Amino acid sequence: MPRLADGTVLAALAATEDTSGSDLAAVRTRIDHTPGGLRITGRKLWVTFGELARVFLVLGVSDAGPTAVLVPRDTPGLTVHPVRGQLGLRAAMLADVVLDGVMVPAGNQLARAGSGLTHVVAAALDHGRFSVAWGCVGMAEACLELSARHAVSRRTGSGVLADRQLVRRLVTDMVAAVTSARLVCEDAARWRQTRPRPDRTMLAKYVAAGAAARVTRDAVQVLGARGCAPGHPAERFFRDAKIMQIIEGSDEVCQDHVCDAEFRRWAATATAGRGAG
Ligand SMILES: Cc1cc2nc3c(=O)[nH]c(=O)nc-3n(C[C@H](O)[C@H](O)[C@H](O)COP(=O)(O)OP(=O)(O)OC[C@H]3O[C@@H](n4cnc5c(N)ncnc54)[C@H](O)[C@@H]3O)c2cc1C
Repeated sequence: MPRLADGTVLAALAATEDTSGSDLAAVRTRIDHTPGGLRITGRKLWVTFGELARVFLVLGVSDAGPTAVLVPRDTPGLTVHPVRGQLGLRAAMLADVVLDGVMVPAGNQLARAGSGLTHVVAAALDHGRFSVAWGCVGMAEACLELSARHAVSRRTGSGVLADRQLVRRLVTDMVAAVTSARLVCEDAARWRQTRPRPDRTMLAKYVAAGAAARVTRDAVQVLGARGCAPGHPAERFFRDAKIMQIIEGSDEVCQDHVCDAEFRRWAATATAGRGAG
């Protein structure tokens, strides 16, 4: 299998389908156990690095339920269709992946059939959310810097933008958003090193994506027309940040999980309290 310069193989997660994005339990890609191996048929959408990946982690459904399988790119019956012109994250080289009766050895299945979503894809998404969250911190910090540098040098009337209270408020809110996003991401990192808490990763992703969306939007505001110019970093981050609120668990999906975890915690306390009384 072709490898990158450092010897690694670029892999991509092929989970989303036309009928299942947030609700991955609804995937329809069929994975059938046959005497000759696993036969896979389905269509996967918006696969990040789909154009380049040498192997796909495919989530499908077998008779036992959600099942995860590794499918090398050069397997007969697998075709890759590049997706161009997305709003943002254009460097992700998205592709749709069609699997038409693709055959792979039974050993390519990861984990037991039926636990592909809970034990394989869930872990992949947790890593993805963590890296998306930190990516959001990075783009928000970059936009804060762009805004502050511009505000202290851009003359308007008798002073510079940095003297205007309304601009100062925008920049103050950027500092607050960037700082809180970084702290929540550090908290998620600590949990990952001690006791994995997927809800904490989701909280970090939710907070950081929200921060990136606000800060990149306000950076374009502070920069004015310069920030709207094609190829300007603020313009690109503004478009990318919107995508961050959708991928790897949308804002609403993250909210649901964070809220569930909190309710579980207090429901347990309430039950214990009733028992004691
Ligand atoms: C740049 C990019 C890269 C991507 N990379 C990958 C990849 O590598 N692999 C992959 O498999 N997929 C990938 N995707 C797809 C992405 O994971 C999905 O777009 C995402 O999971 C959301 O699914 P959806 O678009 O079908 O929206 P839907 O699930 O249809 O949701 C639409 C809206 O409804 C909301 N919603 C949905 N369900 C609920 C609910 N129960 N309660 C409240 N609100 C709800 C959502 O939050 C969202 O706002 C990528 C997409 C993009 C744009």
